Amino acid sequence: MTEIPAYSRNYIDGDFCDGGAGRLAVLDPATGEPVAEQALADAADVDRAVASAKAFSETGGWSGLRPVERGRIVRQMGDYLLERIDEIAPVLTCEAGKPLWEARLEIEGAARYFEYYGNQAETMEGRSIPLGDGYFDFTTHQPFGVSAQIIPWNYPMEMTARSLSAALAVGCAVVVKTPELDPLTNRFIAEAAIACGLPKGVLHILCGLGREAGAALAAHPDVNQIVFTGSVATGVSIATAAARNVVPCVLELGGKSAAIVHDDADLDAFLSDMRWGIYFNAGQVCSAMSRVIVQEKVHDQLVEGMVDQARSLTVRPGLEFPDFGPNMGPMISEAQCQRATGMVSDAEREGARIAAGGHRMNRPGYFLEPTVLTDVTPDMKIAQQEVFGPALSVLKFREDDEAIKIANSTPYGLVAGVFTSDLDRAMQASRRLRAGQVFVNEWYAGGVETPFGGFGKSGYGREKGREALLNYVQTKNVAIKLR
Ligand code: NAD
Repeated sequence: MTEIPAYSRNYIDGDFCDGGAGRLAVLDPATGEPVAEQALADAADVDRAVASAKAFSETGGWSGLRPVERGRIVRQMGDYLLERIDEIAPVLTCEAGKPLWEARLEIEGAARYFEYYGNQAETMEGRSIPLGDGYFDFTTHQPFGVSAQIIPWNYPMEMTARSLSAALAVGCAVVVKTPELDPLTNRFIAEAAIACGLPKGVLHILCGLGREAGAALAAHPDVNQIVFTGSVATGVSIATAAARNVVPCVLELGGKSAAIVHDDADLDAFLSDMRWGIYFNAGQVCSAMSRVIVQEKVHDQLVEGMVDQARSLTVRPGLEFPDFGPNMGPMISEAQCQRATGMVSDAEREGARIAAGGHRMNRPGYFLEPTVLTDVTPDMKIAQQEVFGPALSVLKFREDDEAIKIANSTPYGLVAGVFTSDLDRAMQASRRLRAGQVFVNEWYAGGVETPFGGFGKSGYGREKGREALLNYVQTKNVAIKLR
């Protein structure tokens, strides 16, 4: 039986504390029933967290450590999460709905960020620029100070780990605002910080309503840098708040990513890949394969295969799936489930055909069947807007140019994929696709080491890879006239 603490507190200034805005019930997406309560921070709590982060950051007690020492603590935080994975995974499943094995993968993913950025701590080197005789010039990187990080619900631990580990590695202090729907597991990151000796004051983790605690954090005058992962609408308000204080922000927003499948592709390999491309985390992935653009000749054959893949998934509460396999859990909330189901029905009215799934399941919780929609045209709402659920849209093309044009026809540009055995074709497509990351012959190829972020309305700035370290530092140049 899973033990979930009945009440989780915020972590501010080294203490676990109640929130000024009371408590919030966290619901199990598999049943709709409350699983625990979470302390809710108000603007005063945000103020306290930022003040502590700023005060500590000014002491140099973290940024002034030798990078090797900072890196060691960051790496140990990841090891700590792995040590407690058996305890954390059921909590994550109960608050976020994902199958237990997917919850474990998320925790492993979070730990991997701490490992990778812990290792990167020592690599932030400057350079010397020749200015001619009589001068010596060098550039260095200095941490911004206080980084504010606002996290979405689809990967609550991994998204926190992604930005937090990089910011800590270069010496920033961090205030994390966790998502309201599944805030419980972030407590383990606070416990990792304590256990691994992160100095008090460097990290603060609080949950609060977006419009209250989130907005207060984004607009706080003592925040020096913001990372936001979430929807476009919220991203716009965060960027506006950042602009008012003249601080930089990184926006990781939504997507409507397309896989182009050519008739020379390895179709079997594509089909087993596509199942995870769209149905992983019940499709609630910013970089989900939400459109498949198929070459005419193999269209019918591929649709048949995709329908088989969708129907092969067992859909039930995530706790029933401890092991990797063809299974899927519920969506996160009533609102998200209704929204996705509504988009599928609207698509049918616009002329799309439901080839698999398409309906909400008749059981408690927020379950939508794994869905395949065919006869989708590029102008339909389902082909333009993010569903953020387990619904795949299939479109058809004849010539390469047409495929690229369809893939590029949404306002988003997060990732894209090309499936072909022709390297030349893949290279041409990778250049022309308007996306921050292009996968060739494997969706979700890449990893923590590879930079990730959007073109267009998918946002700006990059997370992951060495690029992300630059989000948290300012470049300083020192030009010296020698005597
Ligand atoms: P959301 O924008 O509703 O919320 C994200 C976070 O912002 C939450 O913590 C929320 O409390 C907070 N928030 C809400 N309103 C706010 C405000 N006015 N000021 C400050 N903070 C506020 O998004 P969501 O529904 O949690 O997440 C789903 C979206 O996130 C999808 O569009 C998805 O594509 C995107 N996403 C993108 C990535 C990426 O890396 N590009 C990763 C995961 C999710």
